[in-house]
Amino acid sequence: MKTTFFFSVIFGLSFLTNCTNAQNPMNNKNPYYSRIDTHHLNVKNDEWKKILPSEIYSIARVQGTEFAFSGKYWKTDVKGDYYCAVCGNHLFKSTAKFASSCGWPSFFESIRPDAVKYTPDHTHGMDRTEVTCSRCDSHLGHVFDDGPLPTRKRFCMNSAVLEFEPENK
Ligand code: FE
Repeated sequence: MKTTFFFSVIFGLSFLTNCTNAQNPMNNKNPYYSRIDTHHLNVKNDEWKKILPSEIYSIARVQGTEFAFSGKYWKTDVKGDYYCAVCGNHLFKSTAKFASSCGWPSFFESIRPDAVKYTPDHTHGMDRTEVTCSRCDSHLGHVFDDGPLPTRKRFCMNSAVLEFEPENK
């Protein structure tokens, strides 16, 4: 009985560990990455800089923007899920993605209302609403009011800060 319990615990821990780092391309370098843990992270940019590839850091942590039509997901229409490339937070489903002429991957809603956060952004002489990841506070892009039904929203995201997991992989 005790032996069975022991092996159940070991198996459970092993399963949890595998799930926690599931499909994370940086799972050896990024101890904060998780697709299960939704607790808010308080990690300073100094530390993120050591962990993240520069192309992700320059957008996620210092509000950069990739060139239009340059990202890997702007015209992808494969079914699947989009996660935060910094922390693994589930952000969008492909069912909310739509073909936009803007050159960045565009969605009409996030997977959950609390998956992202919104902040007024008045930089570069524009009045925009910045969208950040609710778990790690990374910059993802902006949201505009010119999207399609049912929300009329256009979440204009940077491919570099998204990680796509196709369905039935
Ligand atoms: Fe995140």
